Amino acid sequence: MKKRISLLFLALIACSILSYGWGFFGHKVVHQLAIYGLPKQMQGFFYKNQDYLVQQSVRPDERRSHDPEEAPRHFIDVDVYGEDAVYTMPQSWKAAAEKYPVDTLKKYGIVPWHVMVMKERLTNAFRQQNADSILFYAADLGHYIADAHVPLHTTLNYDGQLTNQKGLHSLWESKVPEMHAQGYKLQNKKAVYLADTETAIWEVVRASHKLFPGVLALELEASKAFTPETKYVTVERNGRTRQYYSDEFAKKYAALLGPTVAQRMQTSAEVVSNFWYTCWVDGGKPDLDKLMGGKIAKDEKKALKQEKKSWKKNTLFQENRVIATQKKANS
Ligand SMILES: [Zn+2]
Repeated sequence: MKKRISLLFLALIACSILSYGWGFFGHKVVHQLAIYGLPKQMQGFFYKNQDYLVQQSVRPDERRSHDPEEAPRHFIDVDVYGEDAVYTMPQSWKAAAEKYPVDTLKKYGIVPWHVMVMKERLTNAFRQQNADSILFYAADLGHYIADAHVPLHTTLNYDGQLTNQKGLHSLWESKVPEMHAQGYKLQNKKAVYLADTETAIWEVVRASHKLFPGVLALELEASKAFTPETKYVTVERNGRTRQYYSDEFAKKYAALLGPTVAQRMQTSAEVVSNFWYTCWVDGGKPDLDKLMGGKIAKDEKKALKQEKKSWKKNTLFQENRVIATQKKANS
């Protein structure tokens, strides 16, 4: 029994290590919620492909293991450029590349600029009415937007490693939401058109960075009630000892964070919806029902209606309608 528990524990840890930005669980939830926020003309097509979008929401993280270009697309260590850099950094890639060497920009992360690249590609896919490309870029774009919502994706101290708080990254974005999402209020607003997408994604980065000091401070606050033995669990793996935050500590930390993680998750879904919608409008509002050979079938329409009802009541988790947790139960 003990062995089984430790194997399960290792598997969970492996998942956390593999994920950079919201963890696999968070990304999947964000993409599912974003579909509910879409307007009618888009929703049928996106709902029909809900499983694809949810499962592929984590593809950019998986790509990191074999594509050396991938890693910097998920974050921006904006404080490298100065204390107020999050407010003074050039918003456009062209202006930023005039101010700083491209190598430096790539080293410290390019998430807001990469969101703009993906936004263009998704808009083009709509313009060309290419269903496969629409889905591919919608999944990728959503991932990078969601990553930009994570406070620790906007700082050089991305894992608390500079302040003796190593492990904070996966604690905030994986362990805390995986343990507490059942109680989150996740009712993202309906998609709105973004007249200035560049400013919109920078606003996301600014809001994330503003939360960052609290992410560190509340870890210190929570630590007051713990000893090193109760704060961490140690795991031996391949002859190496690794330390992780304990469940008890994660509970205390989550209580101190309050609704912060839930709010970032909900806002992620809103901004993903907004970008998908904006790309569709800018791409000439193609008829997506026609693209998939007609409207979704009656039973699918009924299922969507039920899901949206749960979403509006905030009972998706309770009614087992969250795809990320369904897969977990199956595996
Ligand atoms: Zn990521």
